[in-house]
Amino acid sequence: MTKNVLTFLIIITLSAMLLSAEFDFITTAERTEYKNTSTYDDVMTFLFEAQKKSDKLQVLTLTTSTEGRMVPLVVIGSEQIKSPQELKLTGKPAVLINANIHAGEIEGKEAVLMLIREIITGKFNGILDNQVILLTPIFNADGNDKFGKNRGDNGPELAGVRYNGQQLDLNRDCIKLESPEMKALVRLLNEWDPVLFVDLHTTDGSFHREPVTYTTMLDPNADPKLSGYMWKTFFPAVAETLKKKYGFDSLPYGNFVDRTKPGKGWESDAVGGRYATNYVGLRNRFTVLDENYAHADFKTRVLGSFGFIKSILLYTGEHIREMREMVIAADRETKTGFHKTNFALEYKNEKLMELSIKSYVFELVKIKPEDRDKYPPWYKDYYAKKTDVFKDYTVDYISDPVPTRTVPLPEAYIILPFRENIVTVLKNHGIVVERIRSPFTTAVENFVVKKVELANRLYQGNVFVKVTGDYETKADVTIPEGSYFVSMEQTLARLLPVMLEPESEDGLVAWGFFNRVLVSQWRNQPQLYPVYRLHNADIPMERYQE
Ligand SMILES: [Zn+2]
Repeated sequence: MTKNVLTFLIIITLSAMLLSAEFDFITTAERTEYKNTSTYDDVMTFLFEAQKKSDKLQVLTLTTSTEGRMVPLVVIGSEQIKSPQELKLTGKPAVLINANIHAGEIEGKEAVLMLIREIITGKFNGILDNQVILLTPIFNADGNDKFGKNRGDNGPELAGVRYNGQQLDLNRDCIKLESPEMKALVRLLNEWDPVLFVDLHTTDGSFHREPVTYTTMLDPNADPKLSGYMWKTFFPAVAETLKKKYGFDSLPYGNFVDRTKPGKGWESDAVGGRYATNYVGLRNRFTVLDENYAHADFKTRVLGSFGFIKSILLYTGEHIREMREMVIAADRETKTGFHKTNFALEYKNEKLMELSIKSYVFELVKIKPEDRDKYPPWYKDYYAKKTDVFKDYTVDYISDPVPTRTVPLPEAYIILPFRENIVTVLKNHGIVVERIRSPFTTAVENFVVKKVELANRLYQGNVFVKVTGDYETKADVTIPEGSYFVSMEQTLARLLPVMLEPESEDGLVAWGFFNRVLVSQWRNQPQLYPVYRLHNADIPMERYQE
């Protein structure tokens, strides 16, 4: 045999081997020894190969991103499930795990791929006996491949960007629903109704040694029984599994109140409904915000996140039915009783519990006047420099938003006609909105706008609007035909005041939805706020659902 023929035969044999080689289900992070993160194509190939290998897993389309990418929804169950109807037939509750909402915060994406590998190769058996797992492994598909030195994390060097294809932060879009991704996620919540929502992030705050941090819904208008269960029952059990079974320390998410004096406390105060975990909490479903610690190396973050996800699924694998009972009860109580309570407009963050943080000794370093601009204004004269000496701090965890200003809730809201943008966004959330067929006269409460103020900076493409004023009761107001009736006696009632109360921090007024009608065109005078409140909705009126 000539040398050429031999070479030819070797090439043919190698090619055949390569073609028949099975996909190895090794992630890009693992293959590169945690130097790189998976591209969009890496993720999609992994998912479709997993679907080929196992009938436990289905890859569906959640939506199409602004730049035209398929945003995948992966459904994993012991039965083949391709639709919410098929999920209902199994009788099993679902858990939703969302990765890459901020596409530079990547370890959740790597961890859910590893989870898929374990499930389809039978290494995480039993986890599907009582639950169905929904995964959105690359939620911000458009941000993932915009690789750059976008983050100051402890590796990898290159990661995607925070924003989506519209330059929107998806984790601020939960009330206004401007992005295809968040609209689709809300549709998923309405159709698949996961009992628990887990959102995976990376945080670069105060220095500590726990690689995993967590919190749950914080909005003071959410059902406190659900967050109480998370803090008292769920997190202690999950954190124990994470430590005992997977070897990782974890800590409630937060930052030192004062970095120069760590003993003053540990605080977390991202409270509004614009954040996904708060938003889902307002819908009476359990939520976990996972923030992996950016100063831990990439491998530790991926494995910590992976261990955390598995610890959560081991817990829900045993307790998901009791959790479902709780959210059904929360729905029932919201529908029948929420309107009899008060809505928190303002709050003060108070002590939730005491906790211990594995941290360091810090040295105070005076900031030179010429360096002052390099530090945020709240740093004042000193910054706290981390030393390598370990020190643990037992401090108050300041993360219980206690209402300081409230307004009594009505039985229903009435939105005057020709406010299609308001009605559309309410319906996109799954809120029941009815149309009034013929005019009637009744007593209403109306918010009299006294002042309209605009923020002095752009935020998410928006200039925040703040209104101040008072409610006035008006007798014998005629509600015109074509107005919209929104009852508070519905399971999503907690979202309604968040969106419709004019002074709500995350309201549709704040987000600019009412800009065209808040002031008169020529004289800039405050105008009628076109939403009425009914304290007695039990009045005869003809209405229908469009
Ligand atoms: Zn994030």
